[in-house]
Order: sequence, then structure tokens, then C-alpha cells
Amino acid sequence: MTRVGVLALQGDVREHRQLLEGVGASVIEVRRPSDLDGIDAIVIPGGESTTIGRLATIFGLLDPLEKAIEGGLPAYGSCAGMILLANGTTGDPQPQLRAMDVVVERNAFGRQNESFEVDLDITGLDAPFHAVFIRAPWVASIGDGVEVLAEVDGHPVMIRQGNVIATSFHPELTGDDRIHRLVLDLARAERADPDATSPPPD
Ligand code: GLN
Repeated sequence: MTRVGVLALQGDVREHRQLLEGVGASVIEVRRPSDLDGIDAIVIPGGESTTIGRLATIFGLLDPLEKAIEGGLPAYGSCAGMILLANGTTGDPQPQLRAMDVVVERNAFGRQNESFEVDLDITGLDAPFHAVFIRAPWVASIGDGVEVLAEVDGHPVMIRQGNVIATSFHPELTGDDRIHRLVLDLARAERADPDATSPPPD
């Protein structure tokens, strides 16, 4: 069975777990470096990115996780998870995994729009995705190797770089499992042939 880790330090771990189990993954809650052994992908939940980053540093997880993703481990992050996967933020420095060549702006949609829902067109999906945004980031600047899969008002809200996918929104809150299926597909491909999914060239 394909084993998907969910970083379980803070945030909506249970919701990701339910969706992943629903699409046939075996879920491992990751709290310490040894939990990374044998997983085929990692999911980083929504929550509070500074808290998740701080706890990941305290538990000695940040560096091993960064290295694992660099080594080809497929990864997906929603909302705070997107912030963790990015290279930087437009605000104060905070712990990040630097797995994607993007800088994100936290809470970017502003006060009057802190939470909203929209039917998004996503590249590769044939019907719109009902997307829930909660104090969500957007991608403020983006490197060449990063593909934009969806935008809101011209701002990237779903991106992919090789084996790493991130969304500003929370598919784990609506029950639409299409993005989690995509993550499982990446995990299965990695499990079947780890060499085929080595990171893209810089
Ligand atoms: N605003 C949060 C942060 O910056 C993310 C919000 C979320 O994950 N829903 O970490």
C-alpha cells in the first residue's frame, strides 16, 4: 500500500488523513525524523505556518524533511503548507523547507476577504474545483521551473514544481479528493520507480 506521511505538528491533520485514506493511502502521522522512513509522499496541512515551522525545527524535522523532498520525495502543502514549501515570504524570515522556487505573501487576500470560496479552473482537472481560502497566501514571485495550475485575480494559488504541489486553498475541507488523488499518483510513481522522479534540474 502506498504510504503517505502527514506532517502532524499543528493544523488540519485529521482532514487530510480522512481524504488520503478515502483515496486508498496508508497514512503515517509524521512527528519525528524516523517517521519519514518508508513514506512515499508527504502532505503538509493548513494551520499556522510559523507554529508548524517552529515545531518542525524543535523536533529536528525541518532539515531531514527538506533533504527528503530535495531527494525526490513527492510533497503537497495546503495554505500554511504552501508557505512551508516556499523559498521565502514577503515578510519576516520564518522556517521554510525551500522546496519550491517561489516567494509567498502570507494572508495576502486581505482583511475584507480573509475567507472566501470560489469555483476554480485548475489545469489538468476537467471540472472546476470548489476552493476554500482561509487567511490564504498567494505566490508573490515565481521562478522559471514552477508551473501555475490555478489563479485568482491573476495571483497564482496552485503551483507545481516537479514532484511538489502547493495550493493556497484547502481541498481537505470540502471533500473533493481530486488533488489528493494527484498526490497519491505522485507517491505511487515514486514508489514504483524512485529514480524516475529525481528532482528537476535547476
Ligand atoms: N495565515 C496562515 C499562515 O500564514 C495560513 C492559514 C491557513 O493555513 N489556513 O500560516
